[in-house]
Amino acid sequence: MADTATFDHVIIGAGTAGCLLANRLSANGARSVLLVEAGGKDGYHWIHVPVGYLYCIDNPRTDWRFRTEADPGLNGRSLIYPRGKVLGGSSSINGMIYMRGQARDYAGWAAAVGDDAWTWDACLPDFVRHEDHQRLDGGATTDELRRFAASHGHGGELRIEKQRLHWPLLDSFVEAAVQAGIPRTEDFNGGDNEGVGYFEVTQRKGRRWSSARAFLRPAMGRRNLELRTGAHATTLSLGRDDATGGLRCNGVQLLCNGTRTTVRATQGVILAAGAIGTPQLLQLSGIGPPELLRGHGLEVRLAAPGVGANLQDHLQLRAIYKLEGARTLNTRAATWWGKAGIGLEYLARRSGPMSMAPSQLGLFTRSGPEQAHPNLEFHVQPLSLDAFGQPLHRFDAFTASVCNLNPTSRGTVSIASADPFAPPRIAPGYLATEEDRHVAAQSLRLARRIVAQPAMARYRPEEWRPGAAAQTDEELARLAGDIATTIFHPVGTAKMGRDDDPTAVLDSRLRVRGVAGLRVADASAMPTITSGNTNAPVLMIAEKAARWIDEEAQARA
Ligand SMILES: Cc1cc2nc3c(=O)[nH]c(=O)nc-3n(C[C@H](O)[C@H](O)[C@H](O)COP(=O)(O)OP(=O)(O)OC[C@H]3O[C@@H](n4cnc5c(N)ncnc54)[C@H](O)[C@@H]3O)c2cc1C
Repeated sequence: MADTATFDHVIIGAGTAGCLLANRLSANGARSVLLVEAGGKDGYHWIHVPVGYLYCIDNPRTDWRFRTEADPGLNGRSLIYPRGKVLGGSSSINGMIYMRGQARDYAGWAAAVGDDAWTWDACLPDFVRHEDHQRLDGGATTDELRRFAASHGHGGELRIEKQRLHWPLLDSFVEAAVQAGIPRTEDFNGGDNEGVGYFEVTQRKGRRWSSARAFLRPAMGRRNLELRTGAHATTLSLGRDDATGGLRCNGVQLLCNGTRTTVRATQGVILAAGAIGTPQLLQLSGIGPPELLRGHGLEVRLAAPGVGANLQDHLQLRAIYKLEGARTLNTRAATWWGKAGIGLEYLARRSGPMSMAPSQLGLFTRSGPEQAHPNLEFHVQPLSLDAFGQPLHRFDAFTASVCNLNPTSRGTVSIASADPFAPPRIAPGYLATEEDRHVAAQSLRLARRIVAQPAMARYRPEEWRPGAAAQTDEELARLAGDIATTIFHPVGTAKMGRDDDPTAVLDSRLRVRGVAGLRVADASAMPTITSGNTNAPVLMIAEKAARWIDEEAQARA
């Protein structure tokens, strides 16, 4: 394709959403599409080996390396805040867990935005469309598989597999959960994810299946799709719309290998820069809270107080239990022959710890009887460490990380400077509400209750963090602040909402209010965080955006 500076569509960010959008929009060969990505290509080998997650986080080859502000809820600690900066975006460095969320999440979205396009039933086809579920490889040959096939897809681009490993310790944890009254589940993706079981992951034969692998690679041969990596979008180009006289987004300015260019988009720009990058770019372009913009000497093109507000994230409380007589990764990977065995197992069978998603076992349940739906998610790992980036403990232990799926605390993302290369201020505001602190205390007590069941007794578990001495709500909530960290799900910073919601940046069809030719299709569009991991919901959002763009183009033709 000729290197022209004018395209029909420009997509900013080749992450989870951006790669899917590039695939869908360029499927029509009559349209020209440009996909721009600030990061580089995804050739780094650790991206593709699942355990390489540990080496991609906080690595400048793959991660923006953001830091949060010191957070009062975390007793003044600042966290590393990983976001993928590479083809595939965060899907190239994430934990690969495939989780749609709960049907009630989408009922909440539909109500919040006033549009039934977001109910669970209306979203289901947009999940199914790209799924390639391993369980359906042999066809829907039994009644159980036929029921499964009614709401899960096969033959799409996104491969979803069972994990290729098995840990007796985790099996004991499943038993213990059942003894504590939590049912087993084989499927976390049926709309109500209550239960305990091994997670399913976006992998193919033990290799990561990122959004770039799934959606971008198959489309790269198309002559109407151009990809620019190392291309940092610095400002949106805003002009006047001929028809209405209002603002219109005509394109974007890029800094690519030291060269400034402006690319034009005749049909529209789609922002898919993620929950941090999207509000940052909007603010840098003069769309955001007026005081913030003026404070950095920027002209206010559109007063939009919701840009960068409403930050929601899942905070994981990492409860750690020391064990006796258990096999965990801590001691299995401590010796050179242990490491060699792990490496050989992966080379021979693509299985074992190197194929391991960071969390293997999942559990969804309620923090108390007053909860109508599961509001907690556990990620259970046969390993422990003080913090990401630190070595594994030298004693056997496991981590029962638990997060509140529906936090009421809210944070912000705001530019710290008019310089597009300066990282924004990220203030998550964790554990800011009494309700969230109460749920934190309840969830640590629940971890204790499960670990105290007979199925775990043979390991003589001893609570290492937060420590058995903490008993009251107040003590537990304070210690939660010490052991908590992000589970990497920031969303909501350019949310959709009703016409009468002054903080709604987008309308219910993902169009930026007050700016023609500009859509947001990524994690920032969510009005509230889903009750689970966020990659699959972002893909679903991107499917809808692509379809609506198509429909609008057809209506214009
Ligand atoms: C470490 C980690 C673990 C996670 N684990 C899981 C998990 O196991 N399961 C799950 O479901 N979810 C998980 N998530 C969350 C999930 O991956 C994200 O919700 C999802 O990837 C967000 O998609 P997105 O398209 O909104 O943003 P991203 O995938 O982050 O994509 C944004 C893209 O835009 C690019 N970009 C940003 N700014 C600019 C700019 N100015 N110019 C050009 N390009 C720009 C970025 O480099 C990036 O490639 C995890 C995330 C992380 C970081």
